[in-house]
Amino acid sequence: MAEQGLLIVISGPSGAGKGTICSRMMESEPELRYSISATTRPPRKGEVDGENYFFLEREEFVSMRETGGFLEWAEVYGNFYGTPRKNVELMLNQGYDIILEIDIQGALQIKEKFPEGVFIFIEPPSLKELETRITKRGTDSKDVIARRMQEASKELKYVTEYDYVVVNDCLEVAVTRVKSIIVAEKCRPQRK
Ligand code: 5GP
Repeated sequence: MAEQGLLIVISGPSGAGKGTICSRMMESEPELRYSISATTRPPRKGEVDGENYFFLEREEFVSMRETGGFLEWAEVYGNFYGTPRKNVELMLNQGYDIILEIDIQGALQIKEKFPEGVFIFIEPPSLKELETRITKRGTDSKDVIARRMQEASKELKYVTEYDYVVVNDCLEVAVTRVKSIIVAEKCRPQRK
């Protein structure tokens, strides 16, 4: 039977670069799987249903939640987000490592259910730098930026709930660190 894969949770404030890190990981590690979340948030320009997210109506989300379809779920900025259970369980049972890019509320729920998971927090070099990045991205209004910054300073306090923290100062270095963490985790004797 295939060895159980690693469940890897990646969180961090909006703008810390976790999405870019995950994309790089997916490009360079063909065996790695990515959990596509469901959300009630409307798609942003360029986002594709079933690729970036499964975009659901609120009723669809609630019905899936009530029938146990999510491993975890949370409300973020007024929208629901959740990790569909089926694919994650299937991938892990087939021996694939899978990345969940989810917020802290979701990560804490996963930690309860999968204490053996690997929890990685992506940190921006500083709050000032985070603000610069979010502003440069140009997708958010001043109000939204202010809210994201407030949220970020709260989120940074949860870093101690994670097994690892990776500061995303230089993207290449951060990606290498995340890869190294995964390699190291696979060398743990208790995983065998
Ligand atoms: P965005 O709307 O910018 O794509 O994501 C907003 C936040 O929701 C991010 O912090 C992202 O990590 C988080 N998120 C995305 N998918 C999930 C999910 O399935 N569960 C939880 N709990 N958070 C998620």
